[in-house]
Amino acid sequence: MTNSSDKMDKIVALCKRRGFAYPGSLIYGGFANSYTYGPYGVELKRNITDLWWKTFVRDMPDVFGIDGDIILHPKTWEASGHLEQFNDPMVEDRDTGHRFRADHLIEDQLGIDAEGMSLEEMTKLIRDKGVTSPTSGKTNLSEVKQFNQMFSTEMAKTSEGSKAYLRPETAQAMFLEFKNIVDTQRCKLPFGIAQIGKAFRNEITPGNFIFRRLEFEQMEIEYFVKKEEWEKYFDLWHQRMDDWCEMIGLNKKNVHIYEHPQEKRSHYSEKTIDIEYDFPFGRKELYGLAYRTDFDLTQHQKHSGQALHIHDEESGQKLVPHVIEPTFGVDRTLLALLVEAYQEEKLEDETERVVMKFMPRLAPVKVAVMPLMKKDGMTEKAHEVWKLVKIFGNCELDISGSIGKRYRRQDEIGTPVCVTIDYETLEDGSVTVRDRDSMKQERVKIDELEDTLRMKYFRVCHSEFISESHTTLNKKLNQR
Ligand code: ATP
Repeated sequence: MTNSSDKMDKIVALCKRRGFAYPGSLIYGGFANSYTYGPYGVELKRNITDLWWKTFVRDMPDVFGIDGDIILHPKTWEASGHLEQFNDPMVEDRDTGHRFRADHLIEDQLGIDAEGMSLEEMTKLIRDKGVTSPTSGKTNLSEVKQFNQMFSTEMAKTSEGSKAYLRPETAQAMFLEFKNIVDTQRCKLPFGIAQIGKAFRNEITPGNFIFRRLEFEQMEIEYFVKKEEWEKYFDLWHQRMDDWCEMIGLNKKNVHIYEHPQEKRSHYSEKTIDIEYDFPFGRKELYGLAYRTDFDLTQHQKHSGQALHIHDEESGQKLVPHVIEPTFGVDRTLLALLVEAYQEEKLEDETERVVMKFMPRLAPVKVAVMPLMKKDGMTEKAHEVWKLVKIFGNCELDISGSIGKRYRRQDEIGTPVCVTIDYETLEDGSVTVRDRDSMKQERVKIDELEDTLRMKYFRVCHSEFISESHTTLNKKLNQR
């Protein structure tokens, strides 16, 4: 196989060539680090978010979904601490005006982990060790300053002043709606609120394709528990996150746990672990799991003057719950799946093929239906078969080009199965079913096609083992 940066380049090229993700705003010469998901990227992304929603919301009786606004009341960010503390250390090239993450420069050039260092310590290290600007190659760098990562915007009219912010995490709407969920859903502890949506961060150095973007999507849960039970539920959610990684087909050997030492934790967290993945550009954070204590609810109580507690039946007391937060990046999941799926294979006839081995449940196209030729009624027959197989999800009618080229194209899209209509089909109602991974072909009667495909490719019950660990580990729920 290829080396790591080569592999990443090939994945990025495949994404553009086949329609997973295009560089954004290209007709205007491009807009750095922006991407548009194409027809297959958007299907893959939707399959990820649908499976997540089914697994963690619909299949969990104690988790409730919401869809909050991107622009929340500006006081939210004062209370949450983001206005003051959601900063990255930034250094500027005095010659070119380019800005960089100071901790990343130190790590890249000196091999020293600078996360958690003070600004003064970083400035001193940069000066003493002669760290250079990646654009000019010179040492003419500014002092290290804090740079707030929130995007601000102007509102036409508000009594609070005109400045508002695009949310840098989806979490806060779930805290703001805590009381509404408790009241309308009649919740008892433990319970969770879940949300999927866009978040925005003014990253100083975005990059690595869709890994670090200015706008990205998150899937998050705020799980409310009694203070004394936080460790139990931290472990439970850790287990569920591991299960999820396995369920979406990430190889265990590529997934690792990193626990943040105290100086690296976010201002609200008393324990954080990252679930890291071996991307071609290094081992990096894929997901996070944090114990946020009662920080957010307490802060919102203070700043809003509203009571945000729950009545505990056991003790008969009102309490402010503590929070376990599992957070999943959609774009990073998508990237990990692309990396995991990408395979180059040498075939028996000495040719090579690239194939994306997505699990059928996540593959952007489930079945491609192909008429061998565009004549003698084969296209019409293919259309009929396409209608039949559509019950499995997004299916494609692939009509143009030689059949060999069409198979290669579907291999690169990661379509688990192709169904071909030929002259025999018109005579005896049988089709060729080609398996993506083995490339083996078999003849199947159209009448038996649905059953065959269901048995071989689409039988999975989505979140079987996560629900199981849920039932065994969280027996309390069943007693309600
Ligand atoms: P990093 O250390 O890589 O900047 P983070 O610790 O700031 O990440 P969190 O605040 O824990 O990230 O955000 C939760 C999740 O959102 C991350 O695990 C990741 O999957 C995703 N995420 C965060 N920032 C970005 C970004 N700029 N682009 C894409 N996904 C992101």
